Amino acid sequence: MASITLENLAHSYQPGSDADSDFALKAMDYTWEDGQAYALLGPSGCGKTTLLNIISGLLTPTRGRILFDDKDVTAASTAERNIAQVFQFPVVYDTMTVRQNLAFPLRNRGMEAGYVAERVDRIAQMIGLEADLHKKARGLTADLKQKISLGRGMVRDDVNAILFDEPLTVIDPHLKWELRTQLKSLHQEFGHTMIYVTHDQTEALTFADKVVVMHDGRVVQIGTPKELFEAPAHSFVGYFIGSPGMNFVPVSVARNKAVIDGKTLKLEHDYGDPQGELELGIRPEFIRLTKADGLPVRINRVQDVGRHKFVNATLGDTEINVALDEDTVLETDMANIVIDPLKISIFSDDWRIDGKSTDDAEGRPR
Ligand code: ATP
Repeated sequence: MASITLENLAHSYQPGSDADSDFALKAMDYTWEDGQAYALLGPSGCGKTTLLNIISGLLTPTRGRILFDDKDVTAASTAERNIAQVFQFPVVYDTMTVRQNLAFPLRNRGMEAGYVAERVDRIAQMIGLEADLHKKARGLTADLKQKISLGRGMVRDDVNAILFDEPLTVIDPHLKWELRTQLKSLHQEFGHTMIYVTHDQTEALTFADKVVVMHDGRVVQIGTPKELFEAPAHSFVGYFIGSPGMNFVPVSVARNKAVIDGKTLKLEHDYGDPQGELELGIRPEFIRLTKADGLPVRINRVQDVGRHKFVNATLGDTEINVALDEDTVLETDMANIVIDPLKISIFSDDWRIDGKSTDDAEGRPR
């Protein structure tokens, strides 16, 4: 296993162009740690596959270097990089049994028969294939074939990294949850460096230790699911993570006061005199509806979705969503919202800005 360093990496599919807009991947500098599970998350076209192909060696970046530990692999072939890959669609040998398919990467490297059998049994057990080991791959369902691909990707313990490109696309929805959980257990047990590409936030958040959120060719944040939820670094993360995503309300801010639609809110932090286009970000879960206090809103509609009630309302000129517990009783005169001040984020030109603790700002010890 290895750490993976992207050093000033950038890629353009238009050779010779220097224009930023021509770069499918804008310049990035990161080290992905050895043994961690990362998810590359973002919408279609944001550059996930481009980045994965650069890591796997299918694509040579226009700029920058890629290192596995301290070794520069920028010009190395996929085979030389010693990685395992699992693709969107199953890649299996139809004439072989499930056991032979799983054993193939180990046999290919001349591993000892006892070790191969033990390793195949362990993987088959963890991924739910024990009952099928003797069956020929031909004729198995797409779900089972993809399980074989996943198992084959995980069977070697000497790879530098395992790369997954939307591996659960063909998996039946009810099995997805099970497989996501099994992949996580396999990671915890074997400790491979894993990179998992997906546009599905649930897959990313359940699988990964750290989620790498991409937007428009840029990595906008690398964080734990909790960090992405509580402190999105960019408004895109706030919007993309969560269902519905974070609310954004235009605001003016001076020190620890925010003014929304003519009403002043006291903030927990001192933001000084922030410049740029300012927005207050608050997740639907951290807003309450009340009768009297807070900011007046117009209620548009209420949607009951089991565990929550989602209320869509208008604050000033901005539509917002409020998530209430299912047992909250809604009364017709509840037309104000109260925002939890501890959960507020302030964004300037889409990037989150950090305030100082108000004690620090006034020069007093905390
Ligand atoms: P998806 O989830 O749809 O696969 P993605 O996040 O993986 O999307 P990429 O496939 O990496 O995104 O594409 C990033 C950008 O690069 C897109 O604008 C895409 O049109 C462009 N692109 C990708 N492959 C090529 C190519 N071979 N030639 C030219 N442009 C490309």
